[in-house]
Amino acid sequence: MDIINPATGQVIDSIPSDNAASVTEKIKKLQSGQPGWFKVPLAERISIIGNFGALVRENLDNLALILTRETGKPLQQAKNEISGAHNRITHIETAAAKWLSPELLTADGPTREEIVYEPLGVIANISAWNFPYNVGYNVFLYALVAGNSVAYKPSEYASLTGLKFRELLWKAGVPEDVFECFTGGPDVGELLLEADLDGYFFTGSYRTGKYIAKKVAEKLVPVQLELGGKDPLYVMDDVADVRQAAINAAEGAFYNNGQSCCAVERIYVHEGIFEEFVEAFVSEVNTYRIGDPLDPETYIGPLTRKEQLEIILNQIKDAINLGARLETGGKRWGEKGNYLLPTVLTGVNQQMAVMKEESFGPVIGIQSVADDKEALALMKDTDYGLTAAVFSSDEDRAKDLLEQLPTGTAYWNCCDRVSPVLPWTGRKNSGLGVTLSHLGIRAFTQPKAYHLRK
Ligand code: NAD
Repeated sequence: MDIINPATGQVIDSIPSDNAASVTEKIKKLQSGQPGWFKVPLAERISIIGNFGALVRENLDNLALILTRETGKPLQQAKNEISGAHNRITHIETAAAKWLSPELLTADGPTREEIVYEPLGVIANISAWNFPYNVGYNVFLYALVAGNSVAYKPSEYASLTGLKFRELLWKAGVPEDVFECFTGGPDVGELLLEADLDGYFFTGSYRTGKYIAKKVAEKLVPVQLELGGKDPLYVMDDVADVRQAAINAAEGAFYNNGQSCCAVERIYVHEGIFEEFVEAFVSEVNTYRIGDPLDPETYIGPLTRKEQLEIILNQIKDAINLGARLETGGKRWGEKGNYLLPTVLTGVNQQMAVMKEESFGPVIGIQSVADDKEALALMKDTDYGLTAAVFSSDEDRAKDLLEQLPTGTAYWNCCDRVSPVLPWTGRKNSGLGVTLSHLGIRAFTQPKAYHLRK
């Protein structure tokens, strides 16, 4: 399998892809290793996860370089991601013992009653490329600490990073028959779907997620899906500082080139501040430096997947044909690589693909609204339900609106953020199940009810 640098189009490495025989062999190994891993005391498993975190920190520069070269993520953002993901390890160190230890519910009387949180067994973690540390850790670290073996399939666009996870987890003390990396594309994912595994944890697109859920349904094992979004942000007319609101909104839309599941994907602005907001927003976006992701000053690198360029250019074309106004960007940049100028459209509406379908790239539509009622109706007009944000100086006014939106996450005066202590979950086409928080710690377990009579 060739690994291509999206900034140059050049092959930077070539690695073996898994096949039916290697998948079978690796899964057998994971099945034999899992029971012994659950017998390792919980405190020791937690400490091994801590060792992994320390190794990642020691190797930060090299790991960031690998991530930048295979995904095109600007180097500084690669470092931010790797350092930021460490908060999952801190969460595990502080909370896992509490939520994974057996619970004694009835201590007196003839029968002691207790819950033991047993691991699921061997789980598949089929993952995405856009934030491989964050979305990977959310699953494989939490699954490991709960006593599962993990069949980790990195995205084909983040395979070198996936192989590094394996190397460092093994070095940290995770047995080699407890974590494995399966490299390859959808065909290797398919082999995992066909295997006899005890849970499927997927991060990726709605289309693939729905397919996976259907395909493994007959196994009657847990399936969790962390999928895409079309996340709205509404800027009310009472924001304390319109310019600052515009700067924050732009970051929410364009950080990591908009390739974030919870990126701001559409913006509604109260008509009273619309012009001021758009002016500040566009002038902020025009300061973004586009270029070589290895240059520490670069904010906008290439898109990771070449195919996404066409999808976004078509969304822009469709919007302009339907009457949108191009404020900035709108075309490719440079001679080589998957570059697209950050693009801002106004005069948009819900008939346009750019306001309905996930863009997953550096394009945003900004629409003027007359009042909160109109904003709410537009924010609701989506098949997705990952996050929604409201900027306002009035918490009650913002919350009144956020409460009415069917999303897993609600942001007041912030956006595009994830916290390990809060559940990460999507509604509607954005997914099924929970990672992170105490609910996400328990997601990789099955309770056993003990009735114990002397
Ligand atoms: P994708 O669905 O194309 O691929 C995800 C993974 O599934 C890859 O490892 C791929 O090889 C594998 N795969 C593809 N077809 C398969 C099949 N038939 N059987 C088994 N495995 C298969 O998604 P992507 O392009 O890697 O990621 C982008 C998407 O992920 C966006 O929609 C984004 O919003 C979403 N995402 C969601 C979250 C979240 O937490 N909700 C986080 C990150 C990304």
